Parts: sequence; C-alpha cells; structure tokens
Amino acid sequence: MLYSDLFGKTRHNPPCDADSINAKLLTQAGFIEKLAAGIYNLLPLGYRVFNKINNIIEGEMDAVGGQRLLMPALHPIDIWKVTGRDRTMDDVLYRTHASGDKEFVFGPSHEETVTPLACKYIQSYKDLPLTVYQIQTKFRDEPRAKSGLLRGREFGMKDMYSFHVSEDDLDEYYEEVKQAYLNVYKRCDLKVHVIEASGGPFSDKFSHEFSVETPIGEDTVIVCEKCGTAQNLEIAEGKVANPDEKEEKELPLEEVDVERGFSVEDNAKAHNVPEYKILKSVVYEIEDEGLIGVVIRGDLNVSEVKLENYLKKRIRSASPETLKEMGLVQGYISPVNIPKNIKISFIGDHSIKNVKNFVTGANAHAKDYKNVNLARDFVIKDFTDLVEVKSGFECAKCNKPLKEIKAVEVGNIFKLGTRYSEAFGLNYTDKDGKLKPVVMGCYGIGNTRLIGTIVEVYHDDNGIVWPLGVAPYHAHIVSLGNDKSVTDKSMKLYKDLVDSGVEVLYDDRDESPGVKLNDADLIGIPLRLIVSKRTLEKDGVEWKERSSDKASDVKFVDLMEKVTKFISK
Ligand code: ATP
Ligand code: MG
Repeated sequence: MLYSDLFGKTRHNPPCDADSINAKLLTQAGFIEKLAAGIYNLLPLGYRVFNKINNIIEGEMDAVGGQRLLMPALHPIDIWKVTGRDRTMDDVLYRTHASGDKEFVFGPSHEETVTPLACKYIQSYKDLPLTVYQIQTKFRDEPRAKSGLLRGREFGMKDMYSFHVSEDDLDEYYEEVKQAYLNVYKRCDLKVHVIEASGGPFSDKFSHEFSVETPIGEDTVIVCEKCGTAQNLEIAEGKVANPDEKEEKELPLEEVDVERGFSVEDNAKAHNVPEYKILKSVVYEIEDEGLIGVVIRGDLNVSEVKLENYLKKRIRSASPETLKEMGLVQGYISPVNIPKNIKISFIGDHSIKNVKNFVTGANAHAKDYKNVNLARDFVIKDFTDLVEVKSGFECAKCNKPLKEIKAVEVGNIFKLGTRYSEAFGLNYTDKDGKLKPVVMGCYGIGNTRLIGTIVEVYHDDNGIVWPLGVAPYHAHIVSLGNDKSVTDKSMKLYKDLVDSGVEVLYDDRDESPGVKLNDADLIGIPLRLIVSKRTLEKDGVEWKERSSDKASDVKFVDLMEKVTKFISK
C-alpha cells in the first residue's frame, strides 16, 4: 500500500478526549476514528489488524472443531424472555421496535439465538458433540464506555458454543478450548493470566477469564507469583495472617458510651484499638427474603460474590431506610445481645475466630461493647469464607504472599451446563432411548478489545510497537528526499517485496524526513526500511526494527533473504 493512497492518515495531535493510550495512539496513527462514546470506525490500518487477529482466532477455533457461522445481530425480544435475561441484562440491552409494534434487541450475546438454532439440528446422541462459533458485532449499553477499544458499546467478539452429551464430555472439551485460547493470545504476543472466576450466582462451577496485566485494566486480579495461581478478586481464596493472640485472656464484657463516626477507622480510633479488633457486621437484603448480617474482622471486606454463591440468591446492601425500618441502628449493628424482635440472621467469616476481646456496636446509638468474645458473648451458626482477599494474604496453595494486579479481560469461557438447553427444550435421545438435556459450554474472545490491549502493552513514547503476528504490515519503506534514484529504487523495492509475499506500506509522500520517521514510529510497523541517497551509495537500505534502537545497513543483494527470515520468525 502506498501511504499517499491510504485512507486514514496520522494526526499531529492526539484527540483531546482520548482517555487511554490505545485511544490516543490508534486515533493519532490513523487506525480508528470515534463516532460516539464507545463506538468506533476501524479505518483500513485498524481493519487489517482486526483481520489478523480474527484469522488467528479462526485458525485456533477451527483446530478444535469449531464450525464458523453467522447469527443475526437483531433478536426478537421473545427469545430473551425465555431465559429471563431481558430482565437480568436489562441495563445493557439496546431495544428497538419494528413495524407492527414488535420489540427487538441488539444482541449483547448469542446463547438465546444459538440454543433454539441447535434445537433444529440436534436430536440424537449421534448429533453430538457439536461446536459452532461466529465473529460478530455485539451491542451493550455499557454505563461507562471508556478506554478506547477496551470498553465499547458496539464491539467485536468471537463467541463459540459447544454441545455435549454429558458434563464429562464438556469438561474434556473445555480443557481443549482453554489451550486453543492460550494459543490465540500467544500468537498475539500477549501474556495472559488464566483466572478462576465465578460461574455466576447460580452456578457452583468456575468460569475462566483470560486477562492481560496492564495499569488501565478495570479488573483486580489476585496472583501468586510463586505458583502462578491467578484469581478474580470477587472469589479469590487466600489465607489472612492471623494476629498472635494465644496469650490474650478473655476480659469481661463491658458496655460503654461513645461518640464516634460510623466507619471502622473511626471506631478503632475511638477505642484506641487496631482495626482488626473491630467486629464488623455488614447487612444485606436477600432477594425475596429478609436481612442477613455478615460478621467479619474490621480490617477485612466482604466479597459479595462469595456471599451470593454461598446463599445461591442475589443480594444487595441494606439501605439506611431498611435498617431503620427493621429496628437496626446504623453504625452500631452487631450480633451481640441483638433484640429478639429484630428479624435478622448472622453468618460469620472465618476471620473472626482468631481474635479475642473485639469491640463492636451495642445495637443502640452511641453505645459499644468492649471485650466481645465469640461463643461466650454471641453465637454464629454458619461460618464460611466470605472475605475479599487483598495483597498480603497468603496463597491457599503454596502459602506465599499474594499480590493484586490490574488486568483487562480479553476472553472468558464458561460451562453453561443445562441452563440454556432446559430453557429452550434442547434435548437429545441417548443410546438408552431416554430424552436428556444437552450440556453446553460457551467461549468468548473480545477481538476489538484485543486490538486496544495490544497497544496498551506494546507502545513507547513515540508510538505503537506492533507484534509481528498482528501488525497491519510487516515492513514500512520510507524514502527520504526527492531524488529520482531514491524514489525509483524505493518503488522497485516495494514491488519486489510485495511480489515475494511481504506486506508492505511504502511512505512515498513528499514530506520531510522528520515527519516521515515520526509517522513510521507512531504507526509502529515491525520493520522500517529507509531508502535515501546515503543508503544507495552503499547499495542498500537502513534496516531498523521498531522494537529496537539499533539501525544497520543491509545491501540489496541480502535484503530479500533477510526480510523473508524476519517475517517468518
Ligand atoms: P467485562 O467484565 O469486561 O464487562 P464481560 O465479562 O461482561 O466483560 P463477556 O460477556 O464475558 O464480557 O464477553 C466476552 C468477552 O468480550 C470479554 O472477555 C471481553 O474480552 C469482551 N467484551 C465484553 N464486553 C466488552 C465491551 N464492552 N467492549 C469490548 N469488549 C468487550
Ligand atoms: Mg466475562
């Protein structure tokens, strides 16, 4: 491609509303152009990168037996009502009306289309296993579309769905797909953490997220640097360091008057104790049920996802109004001597078992208890792990310290089980003649998010540094000066390289060397070849790889072989 012909050029300044490195560099270098918040045009350079990524994904999905198809983006609302996701995903659904008052949604995901589609073709165990996938645009009304291609309202996804006779068969296939995913990211030169994440509030199973560490990442991931375990903060398990209180004696319970704020910090200050000595009760409303209080050490937080998984119910923080209505005194709630007429049950996090002489509220305004001890002063029937793990906890597997990192999720795979097949009546007749629900898995990769992620990882002060496997072109020829010998030779080199299968962008513009070299750095093509009067005197080009500071002279006679070797790395 001749740069002078290319649609989408570099810009001198980044767009003023670019809120991330990828938005800034991709726009400035002419890969993308924003239409509205979270909605982008992919210009020819960006589209080439997109295609490279898609080809990698397609190759790996085909290799695990996936058959590519294309499902509609526009869905009748009725299929979303079948699973109830018209309600549970209501906040992100784009809805529209067709003539005759029919309601449609723009697909944010395709379980609701693929399952009834599979019903048409899966009847017997002989039709299984089966895997189909598509590379398609998704629509989600994200409340905060941001960070360029990382969080769009219209974005690209590869979504794949597999259908099995049994959980065992799904389990085996799931591992194959996990490996295929790792191959995809490796070919994009991305180092991913495979993260155990929640399978959703009604599932005992994990899902796996594939996440790339980067400061702009919205997810907090807990990793053990020793054994490599990576867990989503929401469900991470770890051991909290316990205070050494073996010698401490249980002191008599005391009720005291106090003037303090509501926070644990205020509480600890008022009583001059460390925060872990505060017995904290966090109150939630359980969907269609009453209140539950989680009792946890003051220096720790409750993982609401762990709580939902434990209760198998959705929860939400109890509002100050609800607390008041139920007779609870905000800031002073505790399981100690709680009036019998208050309808609340308490559940304990294991962390409260190792501390003596807690301080906690006395269920009355401006009154606290000191020297509160489990069993003697209050009883908790249910204990479970409800703590949100943080840096400093120890790895549950190898006891080494855990740390928190910021990461962006570039893929997610789930064992769906029979949730969707039961909703749509996707059954098969087994060898024994019995009708059974099909077991499903689903597997997503954010392909537009991948473009943004690669730029977040691969850039420097001068621009993007594309890894070869996803770069828009392999080589960037830059001719310096207007000398006819230079332009003729550059054009010949361009044609020769293209004829040999090298993907080349040739900057043939009549611009100053400064402008052309800066643009080449900004665009970030892996190999830059300069042709100038100086290089022609040596009968060759200046060779510089974008990822290195070193430049060297290469003679034309050696060039083809060297380039071929470079692009087949
Ligand atoms: P997130 O937690 O980041 O909102 P998600 O878990 O809702 O993502 P999935 O439903 O698992 O997303 O979708 C599969 C993949 O699609 C994600 O792993 C991510 O790479 C990509 N993706 C999801 N939402 C977006 C978005 N708004 N913009 C770009 N890519 C997205
Ligand atoms: Mg996800």
